[in-house]
Amino acid sequence: VRVITGLAAAHEAVLSLRKKGSVGFVPTMGALHEGHASLVRRAKRENRSVVVSIFVNPLQFGPKEDLRRYPHTLAADKKLLMKAGAHLVFVPSADVFYASDFQTTVEVKGLTRGLCGRSRPGHFTGVATVVLKLLNLVPCDRLYLGQKDYQQYRVIAQMIKDLSLPVEVRLCPIVREPDGLAMSSRNAFLSKQERTSAAALNRALVDAAEAVRSGARKGSEVTARMRSRLGAAPGARLDYAELVDAESLEPVVILKPGRTVLAAAAVYYKKARLIDNRLIGVKR
Ligand code: AMP
Repeated sequence: VRVITGLAAAHEAVLSLRKKGSVGFVPTMGALHEGHASLVRRAKRENRSVVVSIFVNPLQFGPKEDLRRYPHTLAADKKLLMKAGAHLVFVPSADVFYASDFQTTVEVKGLTRGLCGRSRPGHFTGVATVVLKLLNLVPCDRLYLGQKDYQQYRVIAQMIKDLSLPVEVRLCPIVREPDGLAMSSRNAFLSKQERTSAAALNRALVDAAEAVRSGARKGSEVTARMRSRLGAAPGARLDYAELVDAESLEPVVILKPGRTVLAAAAVYYKKARLIDNRLIGVKR
C-alpha cells in the first residue's frame, strides 16, 4: 500500500489510478478498526482502486474536545489497510493541509441543528469543509461512509447534492463488538467498567426498535424508554436520545406508517463521548 503525504502528489496519484478505472474513497481519522476495514472491503468490491485518507481534522474538534488525545496508530493502520486491499493512503499533515491563512468553510444549515450538532457547535462545518477539500484532492467515483456517523452521512450527502459534486455516496452498516457496542476509535478511552456499561447504548436502540415493532407510535414514548435504559448505565451521562426522521433529522412526534426513523443516542463517559444509532422502518 502506497503512502502519500503531499497534497499535489496525492491528487496526481489518484488521477492516474482513475485512468485505469473507478476509484472508491474512504476518509478516516486513523486508529483503524474492523468498521473502517469493512468500508475499504466494500469499496474494493465496487471499484478498480481504493484510496483511504487518514487525517485527524482539527477543524471538527471543539476547544474542549479530544483532538490532542486522539489516538494515532499509523503502523497498525497501514497493516490493516494492506490486508483490506487499499491501494493508496493519503496522510496529510495538518499544517500542510490547512495553510496558515486558511479562511474558507462550508456550512450545511438545517441538518446540523440537532443531535450531535447541538452539543458540538461547529463540528459539522469542520466535517463538511474537510470532506469537500478531500474530494477535491481525491477525485473519486464513490465515497464510502459508515452509518455509525449517520448525521455526518446526511450532512455530506446534502453538501454533495447542493454543490453538485460528481460523486456517489455509499452508506455502510455499523460494525459492532460481540456485545453490540459499535466499534469506535474512542472505545479505547473507556475503563473496564465503562466498557461493560457502554453496551447499554446499543441495547437502548434495540429496545427502541422493539417498541416500534410492537406498535408504539408516539416519539416521546420511544425516547422515554431509551432515556431510562441509558440512565441506568453506570458512569454514563446522557447527551441525547432522540427519534428523528431519517432524511430530515427532524424530531418525530407521531411515527407514520411506511416511514423510516432514526433512533440516535450519545453518552459521555469520563474520557469519551460515544454515539450510536439505528434505522427503524415503521410498518404500514
Ligand atoms: P472516523 O475514523 O471515526 O472518522 O471514521 C471514518 C469512517 O468510518 C466514517 O465514515 C465512519 O462512519 C466509519 N466508521 C467508524 N466506525 C464504524 C463502525 N463501527 N462501523 C462502520 N463504519 C464505521
